[in-house]
Amino acid sequence: MRSQVVGVVFHNRFKKIVSVKPLTRRELTLRQGVIVEGWVYDAHEDVAVVKIYRANNIRANAIGLLHVSQISSEYVAEIQDYVRPSDTIRARVTNNTPPYLLTIKEPQLGVIHAYCGSCGEELYLTSSGVLVCKNCGRVEKRKVASGGYILTTT
Ligand SMILES: [Zn+2]
Repeated sequence: MRSQVVGVVFHNRFKKIVSVKPLTRRELTLRQGVIVEGWVYDAHEDVAVVKIYRANNIRANAIGLLHVSQISSEYVAEIQDYVRPSDTIRARVTNNTPPYLLTIKEPQLGVIHAYCGSCGEELYLTSSGVLVCKNCGRVEKRKVASGGYILTTT
């Protein structure tokens, strides 16, 4: 399969890796303070791995790490009670070099779209702040982005 990224190929013969540096007119360098959107594709005990696809409304392509300590000002015992794989989140970058570290502690940051863990349909945000599946009735909890969740029951 061909790489979908058009750009300059860098060969690192010491590390034996090949990387493609994308060439875009508006190449955005992620840096501390930038708001990003990304897709959670893995969640471990203390860190969630996020594929960043948008930064300051410009297309981006980077990996972000969301540590359990950067999810809430409350104590977070289980990362899965706040974010889960396949969720889409809005987060803020807290450093200037890869791997990019993310935070969703601020009220307007967090999950903006999620799927039902039981049937896979989209979850809707209710007025009481929980997410509900209109298909199977399952109720789930997340750290939802205040004012940012895409689907609501009203
Ligand atoms: Zn469901």
